[in-house]
Amino acid sequence: MSTETRDAAELRLPPLDLFIGGEWREASSGARFACVNPADASPLGEVAEASVEDVAAAVEAARAAMNDKWSRLPASERGKLLWRLGDAILANADELAALESADTGKPIAEAKMIDVALTADCFHYYAGLATKIEGATIPVRGPFFTYTLREPIGVMGLITPWNFPMLLSARKLSVALCAGNAVIHKPASETPLSALRLAELAHEVGFPPGAWNVIPGRGSVAGAALVEHPQVGAIAFTGSTEVGQQLMRQAAGTLKKLTLELGGKSPHIVLADADLDKAAKFAMLGIFYNAGEVCTAGSRLFVQSEIYEDFMEKLVQRSSTLVPGDPTHPKTRLGPLVSAAQLDSVQHYVDLGKKEGAKLLLGGERSDVPNPEGYYYKPTIFADVRSEMTIAREEIFGPVLAALRFDTLDRLVEQANDTPYGLAAGVWTRDVQKAHSLARRLKAGTVWVNTYNMFDSAAPYGGYKASGFGRESGVAALESYTQLKTVWVDIKGS
Ligand code: NAP
Repeated sequence: MSTETRDAAELRLPPLDLFIGGEWREASSGARFACVNPADASPLGEVAEASVEDVAAAVEAARAAMNDKWSRLPASERGKLLWRLGDAILANADELAALESADTGKPIAEAKMIDVALTADCFHYYAGLATKIEGATIPVRGPFFTYTLREPIGVMGLITPWNFPMLLSARKLSVALCAGNAVIHKPASETPLSALRLAELAHEVGFPPGAWNVIPGRGSVAGAALVEHPQVGAIAFTGSTEVGQQLMRQAAGTLKKLTLELGGKSPHIVLADADLDKAAKFAMLGIFYNAGEVCTAGSRLFVQSEIYEDFMEKLVQRSSTLVPGDPTHPKTRLGPLVSAAQLDSVQHYVDLGKKEGAKLLLGGERSDVPNPEGYYYKPTIFADVRSEMTIAREEIFGPVLAALRFDTLDRLVEQANDTPYGLAAGVWTRDVQKAHSLARRLKAGTVWVNTYNMFDSAAPYGGYKASGFGRESGVAALESYTQLKTVWVDIKGS
């Protein structure tokens, strides 16, 4: 089946409805919520807001797909559909990038080069894996032929945040569908647009009705109803640690399988022997890419004492060239924050940083450029931060760096691990022993050495400690999106 390709200029903006059972449906209550463009606070339009009844309808549609065509489709056909969708995403890259940029405020060039490209890659990667989901034969005692089957869970609920709406949704959708589940996706209320367009594209390339449903709506209503629904077998969630904790409590009633990708306060570490120019460039990108609205943001910078002053000077110099710009301009690298609420939250943390005695080296205020109505914030760097300060402990989720100094590696490891989070860490050193030793000692789901914020559909990704559990991407993700059945066959008489 072919998909209709649209130019960025003909964006499908709201009003948009829910996507249930392969068709657009108004919310049963008739309710809608507004989408806002963070670049100038202008309205983008309204999207239908799913009620508890709409969630039930989506579950019914997904169950029907699991009882019908979708579950009977051979794995190779599922793989083909996923591959076709990856192609359709690339064919519509301009439109998807423009949609994502308008909804989130992220720079258009990055939306296309990173968000859209990696979204397509998720579907292409799992297209290949669909025919490689295998069980095993088990050598048990006695006259039995015993083997395992790796089966879909059934109906899965996927709940996603607003910082990389399309990409983080694709990480879940691709593996869930690869494994043969039917999905109900609840995107973040700030950014529902790309989720609806992806589902439409999926339908156009041939996914059967009900295999993929999208129900924008409030987390406390539609999200909670999905988590509590007895016919939803598992929830894959990306979002804040606080809501993740709430989900665990909500899911207890129906004993649901959960995957939680949560917050972070990642240490980015520069040793005295590192390539300092490269480290400074990545320290800057590590915190200011996507305006710092990145779960793996290197928000705690640890610099070894003997290079601390020089390195901070280099970093401030580089970062001062990064000025907020219009996200629709192809050269812009720093767009607005996603919402007025996020802007207020970032300012609150910056005020706390000043009050608690950190030294402000750069930024520290919102930017009127390029548009005073937009939610722009200047790149902000605090030096002389101590571990006990709020800006070193809590996730800010904005362009705010807290720089700390360290002397010995033992003290560094102690400080770096002194956080409830454990999502990622970065290490800059030319000493191979120190690099591998730190990679082992840091309590984080991903450690980057002499690079930062690298992702690939093939590389498992997920958190330690309060950053969550379960893995996404790679073969490892299948563990969270399937269940294992053991079959015993008595072969005594044969
Ligand atoms: P959030 O407030 O936790 O919301 C995430 C999603 O959960 C949204 O779709 C939200 O819906 C929904 N939700 C809220 N309350 C719910 C409830 N009671 N039951 C079910 N669903 C509910 O997070 P966010 O502010 O969108 O995103 C920022 C957070 O995500 C940060 O903490 C960041 O670190 C984390 N994050 C983690 C990763 C990772 O891979 N580990 C990646 C990206 C972001 P509404 O939008 O309607 O509230």
